[in-house]
Amino acid sequence: MKIQLIGTGTIADISNNASILINDHIVFDMPNGNLKAMIRQNIDILKIDTLIISHTHADHCFDAPFLLWYKKDYYKPGHKLSTKIVTDEITRNTVETLIRLSYFSSAREVEKEFIDAKDVNYTKICGDVEISNEPMEHKDIKFANGYIIKDKNVSIGLTGDTSYCEGVRKIASKVDYLICDMTLEMGNDSHIGIDNIIELLKVYPNLKIIPIHMHDKTREEAKKLNLDNLFIYEDGKILEL
Ligand SMILES: [Zn+2]
Repeated sequence: MKIQLIGTGTIADISNNASILINDHIVFDMPNGNLKAMIRQNIDILKIDTLIISHTHADHCFDAPFLLWYKKDYYKPGHKLSTKIVTDEITRNTVETLIRLSYFSSAREVEKEFIDAKDVNYTKICGDVEISNEPMEHKDIKFANGYIIKDKNVSIGLTGDTSYCEGVRKIASKVDYLICDMTLEMGNDSHIGIDNIIELLKVYPNLKIIPIHMHDKTREEAKKLNLDNLFIYEDGKILEL
């Protein structure tokens, strides 16, 4: 599985907002500024046919209209115009409202298919990988969606924003790689901290953790620890898992 870390930071840091590209055609989260981040990383945006969104916060979905708009206005033959959008009903409503507010008519007109996150259960919605959903806990957000993406060789977990909840441990127990929230040094009811990551690594010694959504300070502190199986990368990193 090919993974590109489009963004590894949070909205208030130097690094891009957290977003992942899988096998060149699936994007996990489309935060504000993500279209530009993708252009800067020479990503072929027309290849993207599936957008998976973790939750309704702006720094996870506010660029969704611009992805759809770009696909229509810069369309080249040979590409899929339609986009599957896997998310919950609240985030779907947010994306539809943003499309309306944007006045970018191409985003409204272009073909798209919303798939409710709770309906994906190891389904092959986009050919080469299976996707399943695991609910997370992210303070007062009703739907925070974690996912497992799997092909015949490898499985990865994507937590999105979450506290160190039961869902995180459930995903961690099932995957080879966990690409997860590590916003803080000490976790709270919104986000995972380095303290939680240390605990996870003790419980699942074979799990490889790739943190994203890191504050700059958290990133620096975590690097100093030199933990086995904790891989801290910068924006644009490409991995073959
Ligand atoms: Zn959030």
